[in-house]
Amino acid sequence: MDTEEFRIRGKEMVDYICSYLDTIRNRRVFPGVEPGFVHGKVPDNPPIEGEPWDDIFADVENIIMPGVTHWQSPRMHAYYPALTSYPSMLAEMLTNAINCLGFTWASSPACTELEMIVTNWLGKMIGLPNEFLHNKDSNGGGVIQTTASESTLISLLSGRSVTLQRYSNLQPDVPLFEIHSKLVAYCSDQAHSSVEKAALIGLVTLRYVESDAEYSMSGSKLLEAVKEDREKGLIPFWVCTTLGTTGCCSFDDLQGIANVCQQEQLWCHVDAAYAGCSFICPEFRKWLKGVDKIDSIAFNPSKWLMVHFDCTAMWVRNSSALHCAFNVNPLYLTHEFSGLAIDYMHWQIPLSKRFRSLKLWFVMRNYGVKGLQEHIRKGVMLAEKFETLVKSDPRFEVPARRHLGLVVFCLKGNIKTTEALLKRINSRGKIHCVPANLKGKYVIRFCIASPRTTVQDIESDWKEIVDVTNDLLSGNCS
Ligand code: PLP
Repeated sequence: MDTEEFRIRGKEMVDYICSYLDTIRNRRVFPGVEPGFVHGKVPDNPPIEGEPWDDIFADVENIIMPGVTHWQSPRMHAYYPALTSYPSMLAEMLTNAINCLGFTWASSPACTELEMIVTNWLGKMIGLPNEFLHNKDSNGGGVIQTTASESTLISLLSGRSVTLQRYSNLQPDVPLFEIHSKLVAYCSDQAHSSVEKAALIGLVTLRYVESDAEYSMSGSKLLEAVKEDREKGLIPFWVCTTLGTTGCCSFDDLQGIANVCQQEQLWCHVDAAYAGCSFICPEFRKWLKGVDKIDSIAFNPSKWLMVHFDCTAMWVRNSSALHCAFNVNPLYLTHEFSGLAIDYMHWQIPLSKRFRSLKLWFVMRNYGVKGLQEHIRKGVMLAEKFETLVKSDPRFEVPARRHLGLVVFCLKGNIKTTEALLKRINSRGKIHCVPANLKGKYVIRFCIASPRTTVQDIESDWKEIVDVTNDLLSGNCS
């Protein structure tokens, strides 16, 4: 494809994208396909000769779209969101055209410096203390990682390095592997599975602390666990506090947990993957109390702030801890300003990074703080509306307090009926939800996020749920 053809095809693609998004409400949100559905439609081997673009493009509708779960649909209520927006899309186009790899400052100075600026902007928007921003008085700062999972792992590995160093300074005769074998990390029993994965990769024991009736981990429960482990000769070193759990968007008591971490010299990480986006609204910042005592925090603008996946903003108080965990310095990566400018390769696991700050910059500038706040508040308002509808039907219950844009609900009585309800809802494809297990209780999660979702959508989504419920409870198998 030459430049002239790209000009034409690029414009056609923009038209296709606009029509796709404008009419997305008319598509099944959840595809009715089975595993292997692409297999029979695509040859086993790649073409020897290049194919005309028209043929390739036609297969998008013929082959790909029938198997897409439409995450941008206003009727997508599964998981947590992954939203797009036009300014973010334009940034991705430009990022792809530039396609620089920002591992050191010198490998693309604008990539590094814009990342420092936008993480400072975003940090200020959610009210982070100065120590987490890039400035001359701070040793901390922000970085854009791929995912919340990766941020959790980076935080755990950094906490591990710091602790190993501290203990080996105290006990120089004890081999590092012996100290390592005693390390214990903590999170609530509601934490995301990525915390378990981080502990698996970091080869440390993970202890789950029981959450309370509000699905929240308290400082006192954490302290009990830490004391018990110290008595056994173990070395507590790292805690993951979840703000906005995946199951029901509950919040750990950050203030209490951060106090324990400070007192016990534990690295305190905050995983606010979804809920962190809401902290741009002052009324939702109450959950951040205690943030002045933590070591790291991450959330995903790629979830609720209409910035494309992948984009996780992570801030650390002490960037030396990241360097301690990830610093390698071969000659081919040194440059004239090594040591004077930030080289993000020391703040992350891969060497290279995409120019992700561009999309955050475009979105923040085009919507402004006010526009983004309006988007969050609209999602919360629609979730309140949905919650009211569920509570108005005596056959249903909302077994966990609603926070932000997530409502969890189930049919009263037998778990099996709620399971059957979800299965039927998803098989009809009009709306899409996933379940969660809240301490043995099976619930359906209904998350609202899309800027396209309207009050009318919520009403028709609820009608769909009521219709399926009526059928199910009357024994109708249609
Ligand atoms: N942490 C929490 C609380 C989440 O809800 C999720 C996903 O929804 C994750 C971590 C994982 O996010 P990511 O896909 O960015 O790794």
